[in-house]
Amino acid sequence: MSAEQFFSMFNKQKKRVEVMPSNRQPFRVVKEDPDKPQDIPSELQKRARNKKRKRLEIKNDQYEQLMMLSVPVRFPKGMSLYPTQKLMIVRILAALKSSQNVLGESPTGSGKTMALLSSTCAWLNQYIEEKKKSREKCPIHGDKRDEYGEEEAEEAKEDVKPEKIEKMEIKMEKIEVKTEKKDLFEEQWRDDFIPHGGGPGPSVKFEMDSVKKEEKVEAAPTDCTCLPRVRIYYGTRTHKQIAQVVKEFSRLPYANIIKHTILASRDQSCINPTARKQPDISGYCKEINSAHGIGCQFKNAMRPRFEKAPMLRSHLMDQGTMVFDMEEIVETLALAYPQICPYFSTNRILTQDADLIFCPFSYLVDPLIRNSSDVHVKNSVVILDEAHNIEDTCRDAASFTFTEKELDDSLLSFRLKRVAIDNITSNKSAEEAFADVPDASIHMKEFKGHLMYLEHLTLEILRWVRHVAQEARTPPKSRQEGLKTCTLSSETLFSSLTNAEIGVDLFAPPNTPKHNAIATSFGAITKQNDPEMKEMDQFKPSATAIVVIEKWLYFQSYFGNQQYRPTYRLNVTVEPINARFNSTFDGGDTSMASTSFSGTSRSSAGPRNMQYKEENPWVAEDDDDWKDPSISQTGHKAIYEGCKTSISLWCMSPAISFFDAFSETRSIILASGTLCPMDTLKTELGMEFKQQVEGDQVISPDNIFAAVLPIGPHGNRITCTYRNTSDPESPFYEEVASIVKYVCTNVPAGILCFLPSYRVLEQLKMCMYKNQSMLQIKSKKVILFEPRRSSELSAVMDEFDQAIFNPTRFGATINGALMFAVFRGKVSEGIDFADDRARVVISVGIPYPNAMDDQVNAKKMYNDQNSKEMGILNGDEWYTTQAYRALNQALGRCLRHKNDWGAMLMIDDRLERQTSHLTTGASSARVSKWIRAQLKSYPSFRQFNANFREFIERRLSIVKKEQEE
Ligand code: SF4
Repeated sequence: MSAEQFFSMFNKQKKRVEVMPSNRQPFRVVKEDPDKPQDIPSELQKRARNKKRKRLEIKNDQYEQLMMLSVPVRFPKGMSLYPTQKLMIVRILAALKSSQNVLGESPTGSGKTMALLSSTCAWLNQYIEEKKKSREKCPIHGDKRDEYGEEEAEEAKEDVKPEKIEKMEIKMEKIEVKTEKKDLFEEQWRDDFIPHGGGPGPSVKFEMDSVKKEEKVEAAPTDCTCLPRVRIYYGTRTHKQIAQVVKEFSRLPYANIIKHTILASRDQSCINPTARKQPDISGYCKEINSAHGIGCQFKNAMRPRFEKAPMLRSHLMDQGTMVFDMEEIVETLALAYPQICPYFSTNRILTQDADLIFCPFSYLVDPLIRNSSDVHVKNSVVILDEAHNIEDTCRDAASFTFTEKELDDSLLSFRLKRVAIDNITSNKSAEEAFADVPDASIHMKEFKGHLMYLEHLTLEILRWVRHVAQEARTPPKSRQEGLKTCTLSSETLFSSLTNAEIGVDLFAPPNTPKHNAIATSFGAITKQNDPEMKEMDQFKPSATAIVVIEKWLYFQSYFGNQQYRPTYRLNVTVEPINARFNSTFDGGDTSMASTSFSGTSRSSAGPRNMQYKEENPWVAEDDDDWKDPSISQTGHKAIYEGCKTSISLWCMSPAISFFDAFSETRSIILASGTLCPMDTLKTELGMEFKQQVEGDQVISPDNIFAAVLPIGPHGNRITCTYRNTSDPESPFYEEVASIVKYVCTNVPAGILCFLPSYRVLEQLKMCMYKNQSMLQIKSKKVILFEPRRSSELSAVMDEFDQAIFNPTRFGATINGALMFAVFRGKVSEGIDFADDRARVVISVGIPYPNAMDDQVNAKKMYNDQNSKEMGILNGDEWYTTQAYRALNQALGRCLRHKNDWGAMLMIDDRLERQTSHLTTGASSARVSKWIRAQLKSYPSFRQFNANFREFIERRLSIVKKEQEE
């Protein structure tokens, strides 16, 4: 019996064995004829053919140049830099020259992105020249080219003229022949299809990396004098923001010198129509491209020509695409001949020679994604734009949540796969088949051993979770009672992991036999494209199981470090099933935005789970299927019947993952329109930021109105505390409703109103319907509410835009829209409300994180305990800075460019107290500097009204005049 026959027989048996459903949804793998061209998704074809989207053009043949700190800094012709930009450029250059870090706050519209790009590109351009010279002089490498033909790569940096392309292609063909023999790229691609989570786990990966580094150090000649390669990583939050940054880059005279690429997920870039129909594009792609897979024609079409960056860049240039954002490169590669995969092009090939790499934050901060991507931050310059939430992102990156169901599903998966191997090896005819399959029985035995080891580990973790959950708390008595949580110290966490009384011994710090054993088994079951083991692919456990072990390894890597251990807290959460739909969180607040300071769900997941769910949507759905958890498929009895139990291992210090990610960079630049208050960043991230910039607003003070309203139109003081907001009859609501009505009926165009939580928003809504103010507003504005679901946001925003730019569609008297939203919500960040989209932003209260949230309280206590010793802010200071950052972020929605104008009204008398010391004291550093400069507190509504009315009338008359002209 041949190997093929044997495994086809095995597959038949496997189907019989797997009677119990796996939590992994099977893919619909459709047989494709690799020679038959596939249609790319029709929406993509339509979009590209209509060419509604203009190509990014490089407009940099002429430029201005300034010498700054002996670096020639170029910027677009006709552009004069604002003083704020110059200051930022100088600080960044100073930092890059001496490998320092930068904190830079600069208001939206002040040219922050241009300053970041022009300074770093100018420095890199000069550095590349120095590097070249250092190589020429190097006694080891002076007369050699590097492996990829650095000279050719350097040549491509020049402005490539059409006649040059031909020459270049000839040269590349030569390189191709040279590298083909070595099969270098084959090796690079070997790890591309590691199941979710990408690799042999953090510690394994870390250990492998460190071994490699050591090897490299040993192998490197001691007298090499070459300067190291430096790349720029430009990280920002969303792909929409990346597109805006790339647009700025295309204006710079560096766009044809410095090569770039973009890192994105398959969801963003896959063009395989069958894959795009799958619920999990990433999983499907890995499956079809694995050893047993049918392959993807778009990836296959890359071989061998487009496996080299210079050839691919030349191909893009042929299509007229030199500077590209994700949308553009997807369109280009989907419509060109041959059609090739944009995901592998941008993430694997163009990264070879790119000096500037744009990517979402997660590729840099999250160890899981970083380690499975082509990201090498050592010696690099890392820019994190829109970095105001970096603390939360980093804390989340080192925190891990395990749910009871997730563990049980993993257990089931390990068990099923082990049984599948047992069934094969106990089958006589299968035994005979081993004779024809070299080493198959050995591989199966080995693989089964690893599965058994990890099954046992998962069982141990589940046992530990059960014990900890039962010891820690009593369950909710009824579904109405809602979620219950309990947070325990780092010492308790440690002792629970090493509890001899109940036989738990789960502490496995790195470099111990136990940790190495887990890492080895994990590495073995996730190994990809190993020809000797390819048949074992069939016994691989589900993505859930892999992620559970991966999270465990990451946790052990951090918690196993004695220095990091005290930063961990153990949280147990018990939530009645469907509680989120019928109960309130502690404090009676259902606002996701206000319950967690990080904005992530406290009941569901840490970042590992978030990432995992994003990549595995079907699992996210499964997570809610824990309908009858009393007895699971593994025979496991639910810890608390009718409840979801989870254990979170919260890291209190963002410095851990920040250091892990960026300690080897040359410089890290944190930039945002709202980094203020900066104290917390300087202390919490555990790195020194020697250069600091707080930019001025470039908008004329005449265009800005900033007011604190401590007193309402009815003469009541307005304090947005829980006491006042929990009473629907409180004058607080009447006063806020009157101010909102006043603004909406007197100012045309867009008005934004931010509230501290959905609970307060609901109460205000009720009050406004009751006192008819909602009706009065409706005669002037379309009223919209921030949706709870992200998927509904774009429809709401479309309607908002319609009401602003085509108001008569909604009625003859309509002149704009009012949007109610919450701080830290979907509207408060990342959406640009320029010009008429927001003429007034009303902020109600100070958005302190929810004082009833366990994670917030644990963090406050941690800071109190460690503020003196570690030089971090104390709990209250930290708590306050979180509130002001969210406030600044919401206020920054309007006033988006130099000629914009608008008003910011802050309703809460506590802000009056804060702003009464504008010139001195810590409070002066809380509201962004550019707002502070204009901020005025009004002792009566009458006084406010006079100034506000004057401001609006003046601005409207200017607008009218401009329109008449
Ligand atoms: S190889 Fe590229 S085009 Fe093909 S399925 Fe994967 S991501 Fe999609």
